[in-house]
Amino acid sequence: MSDCLFCSIVEGKIKGEIVYRDNSIVAFKDINPKAPVHILIVPTKHIATLLDLQEEDREIVGEIFAVANRLAEQQGISKDGFRVVANCGAGAGQSVFHIHFHLLGGRSLSWPPG
Ligand code: AMP
Ligand code: ZN
Repeated sequence: MSDCLFCSIVEGKIKGEIVYRDNSIVAFKDINPKAPVHILIVPTKHIATLLDLQEEDREIVGEIFAVANRLAEQQGISKDGFRVVANCGAGAGQSVFHIHFHLLGGRSLSWPPG
């Protein structure tokens, strides 16, 4: 989608600090990190919100969690604990309407989130 920020990062039109890429997933560092490790994991396919996920997208969601686990290991946050969060809708804090999963770690994370 031409006016989507994360599509632009996926397509390389806007620079991102990419830490993982395959045909269906791209992961890059959050520009405004909320934790020592803060990576965004996105499907290369444009999907606006979690509510827009279709039956055919089930596999990609599973793959995203596999990538999150792998990155957590690589970033050294798997032992102490990490969080994978997806905000759905403006009321939950979604500001970019291309689904993304925040991988957060490297500090203690309080619960519940605000
Ligand atoms: P959300 O508020 O859940 O939609 O998360 C959007 C995230 O995208 C925020 O944590 C932003 O800091 C991050 N973000 C916005 N623009 C960029 C960018 N150009 N590169 C990397 N991360 C970004
Ligand atoms: Zn997009």
